[in-house]
Amino acid sequence: VTETLSDMMDASVKAYGRKTALEFFGAQTTYAELGDRIARAAEGLRRIGVERGDRVALILPNCPQHVVAFYALLRLGAIVVEHNPLYTPRELRHQFEDHGARFAIVWDKVHDTVAAFPEDLRVTGIVSVDITRSLPLPQRMALRLPIRKARETRERLTQRPSARRVLTWETLVDGRRLSRKTPRPALDDVALLQYTSGTTGSPKGAMLTHRNLRANAQQGQAWVPGLREGEETFYGVLPLFHAYGMTLCLTFAMSIGAKLVLFPTFDPDLVARAARKSPPTFLPAVPPIYDRLARAAQQGAIDLSSIRFAISGAMSLPTSTVRKWEYVSGGLLVEGYGMTETSPVALGNPIGPSRRPGTVGVPFPSTDIRVVDPEDPDRDLPPGEAGELLIRGPQVFSGYWQRPDETHAVLLDDGWLRTGDIATVSEDGFVTIVDRLKELIITGGFNVSPSEVEETLVSHPDVDEAAVVSLPRAEGGESVAAVVVLRADAEQEAEALRDFCRTHLAAYKVPRRIEFANELPRSLVGKVLRREVRERLIAQD
Ligand code: ATP
Ligand code: MG
Repeated sequence: VTETLSDMMDASVKAYGRKTALEFFGAQTTYAELGDRIARAAEGLRRIGVERGDRVALILPNCPQHVVAFYALLRLGAIVVEHNPLYTPRELRHQFEDHGARFAIVWDKVHDTVAAFPEDLRVTGIVSVDITRSLPLPQRMALRLPIRKARETRERLTQRPSARRVLTWETLVDGRRLSRKTPRPALDDVALLQYTSGTTGSPKGAMLTHRNLRANAQQGQAWVPGLREGEETFYGVLPLFHAYGMTLCLTFAMSIGAKLVLFPTFDPDLVARAARKSPPTFLPAVPPIYDRLARAAQQGAIDLSSIRFAISGAMSLPTSTVRKWEYVSGGLLVEGYGMTETSPVALGNPIGPSRRPGTVGVPFPSTDIRVVDPEDPDRDLPPGEAGELLIRGPQVFSGYWQRPDETHAVLLDDGWLRTGDIATVSEDGFVTIVDRLKELIITGGFNVSPSEVEETLVSHPDVDEAAVVSLPRAEGGESVAAVVVLRADAEQEAEALRDFCRTHLAAYKVPRRIEFANELPRSLVGKVLRREVRERLIAQD
């Protein structure tokens, strides 16, 4: 890696000038236009006081302004802090307490939340973005997106009695371009403070440098064969405020001059509509999205045949999803593995006949792995034996923001990252993820893998989904419990399901308690939140 993300963007603007960089509800932006907007936004941000090393919060859904703001901040050497715009005011406030950003670029729908933050959070500047403003009127009408009167917004913003500087996105990007002489960021500057998903605890801010993120896009390029520079169409259905979408949709697309079609939410109808104008060729997503798109394709609502590569990550990919997807699209669906702390991709299946469904493939280029005894990370385990997965490579982060203890716990001195995931490696190097270390259940001295019990439950014809967790026992220790979602019209008793488990699993693995629910709690990218399942079960008692 020799260039920062900012250098990379400048190079793409030069190389692909007239090609379309972004598409949003049919409205297109070329690379040249994007470069121009980034330069103006950077100047606007410099004027309101953003400096190198400043943390600047972005609270935006996927939209062109998100991309412009991201690269404008990077150009200034600032640190982008991404947020989920659907977080509650309380969750957002906690994140601001953690990172202490002085500036925020926010979706107008969350503007009031940020403006109401207590003064001691010291947010001195807020830029409010109306994401519908960039769309031509017919598209806004067609989408029935609320057409906000500009005057009304301006009045609301200027009347606020606060020391905070508040302006609209349009005012910010109205003026001159940033001078070329403005100092540029360095390769090892932090570019992004990316919070983890918060699946196992509260989200932690992972510091990702320009080098980390650029490296991961380059590794991705080496991974996916036959990508045509300047010719691909990426679909950005994953949120850019998550590491997966940020790297695999945005950075990757921009680095090879692809057209990136942005979706503020995932909706098969929106995807189908966009596909008529710009057929997708590359789709990074998660299993629940592939399932829904495959279903839509089976019903004839969408044509997926233009997609040559589909990449799944963030959670395990069921082989049934692979089969359905490949049948309806005719393309390949391959699984990779990563985490926010690895920018995020660390392993991937070969994209071709040698991929191995059920595994997460082999290490990315320039990435090393080990499987070790979680109790003693110096002790390597032989192939086939389950242990904690360690990763080392240019994409491994530099630590959690202001959490030295947690950083120290996962980043070993010689650059190895403890993933907290249990994995096995086959003789020929393919990795299978077993479970998260934190979610293993220890009952009566035995380890129970919740995934194994979930797979057993889901193999029952009446069971659609299952989540298995540990519950504290009154007499001490833990017990296995399950929450099950039945298929539509199916009826089952807990006891019958326990009997079914008994025929497939050792007695200590059989859930002592099975409850039924209509759905499982999921994170925004669709991961089942076992922690929440557990809390709900405990609250029920
Ligand atoms: P937190 O760290 O805040 O508890 P999180 O680990 O879910 O949340 P992310 O960084 O978004 O936050 O997710 C990384 C994790 O996702 C990995 O550690 C792993 O457990 C899981 N994961 C990613 N890809 C796969 C995959 N292909 N199969 C199974 N699990 C996966
Ligand atoms: Mg994690």
